[in-house]
Amino acid sequence: MSSYPPDGPPQTTLRQRLADLRGPAVPPRPLDARALAALAANPGCGRRALLDGAGVDKTALAAALGSPAAFGQSQFAIVRGNSFEARVKGDGGVELLRLTHARLGGGAEPPGPDSRVPDLTAAGPEGRAARTALALREATAAGTWTLLDHPMLALEVAGTPAYLEPDAVVVHPDGRWTVVEIKSFPMIDGAADAAKVGAAARQAAVYVLALEQTAGKLAGAEVGHQVLLVCPKDFSNLPAAALVDVRRERAVTRRQLERLTRVEELAEGLPQGLCFDPARPAAELTEAVSAVTASYAPECLAACELAFHCRERAREAGEPAALGRSVRGELGGLTTVEAALAAAAGARADAGAHAGSGPGTDPTAAALREAARLRAEALASAAARPPYQAPETPECPC
Ligand code: SF4
Repeated sequence: MSSYPPDGPPQTTLRQRLADLRGPAVPPRPLDARALAALAANPGCGRRALLDGAGVDKTALAAALGSPAAFGQSQFAIVRGNSFEARVKGDGGVELLRLTHARLGGGAEPPGPDSRVPDLTAAGPEGRAARTALALREATAAGTWTLLDHPMLALEVAGTPAYLEPDAVVVHPDGRWTVVEIKSFPMIDGAADAAKVGAAARQAAVYVLALEQTAGKLAGAEVGHQVLLVCPKDFSNLPAAALVDVRRERAVTRRQLERLTRVEELAEGLPQGLCFDPARPAAELTEAVSAVTASYAPECLAACELAFHCRERAREAGEPAALGRSVRGELGGLTTVEAALAAAAGARADAGAHAGSGPGTDPTAAALREAARLRAEALASAAARPPYQAPETPECPC
């Protein structure tokens, strides 16, 4: 039973506990919007929630476990992206403000010499987030076009604050705030790769949620649910902009983040002395990681650094989810691959026992038996057919 007050452990105690889990000498790895979007995509995974909440470097941890996963952009793509972003924001953000006005200006006056690009420098993420909140407040009160270059936004996730840094936020004269995402993938004839736009929308939705936390305390401020996506136009280095509606992504992400198990509850249930410091031996780390429940699905391969490790464990345990979330859903009460195979072979499956109706009456088991029978029939008829003979082709005259 928890000895903490009803509103959770004191923050200093929780911070110390998370530092112990990370390794006392290991600096915390900050959460970014990409990680949060991935976290929200698998809210049932306590392992990821705890490791991200404690600021564990999952890339280093996966390598120490012997299952490294390559993630992130290539060095070339990073350099190209940075140079494009610098170009888009060059000259005091004139071009970016012009693009915003062209897409979202409504009846507002175009940005003029009174447009502002406030200085957001401050010490540490907390200081930068406070400086950004102040700049947003001042820009909303001033009623002029304002460009916030790399602002810092705070968003509380599973009881701990995450600091997020969008490419830019534009404040309109009417008090609207718009998230700007600058990407290096091309926009050809006004359209870009749908998968990349979808990923950018999920990331931008996290920024929108963080901005809403700040805007909620400020009269007259409103956060736009359309974000401005800026990409290179037709393989050139010129910027093209399009509006992306992130209402759906925002709603999904908010729901998923709310469902995330609170980090202190996860940390509380773990044995003392547990540590995810990548410098520890692999066997010790494997045991530590296994102490936190995971929810592996093949989608993890595109979103989480621990995917290869978790896939291996899920396969060892015979979890149907390793074959896909839809397979797990279809199998219902059959909770292991072994049980599903036994049901297909006609043996008493735990689903039948679970349903209390005896063997042979569970519809999933019956469907599996039928599928196994059809497969056996198809294989037998294929084996009975004479081997395929390729037709003789006339000799080539040349
Ligand atoms: S790979 Fe593992 S830790 Fe990461 S989200 Fe999937 S189950 Fe969770």
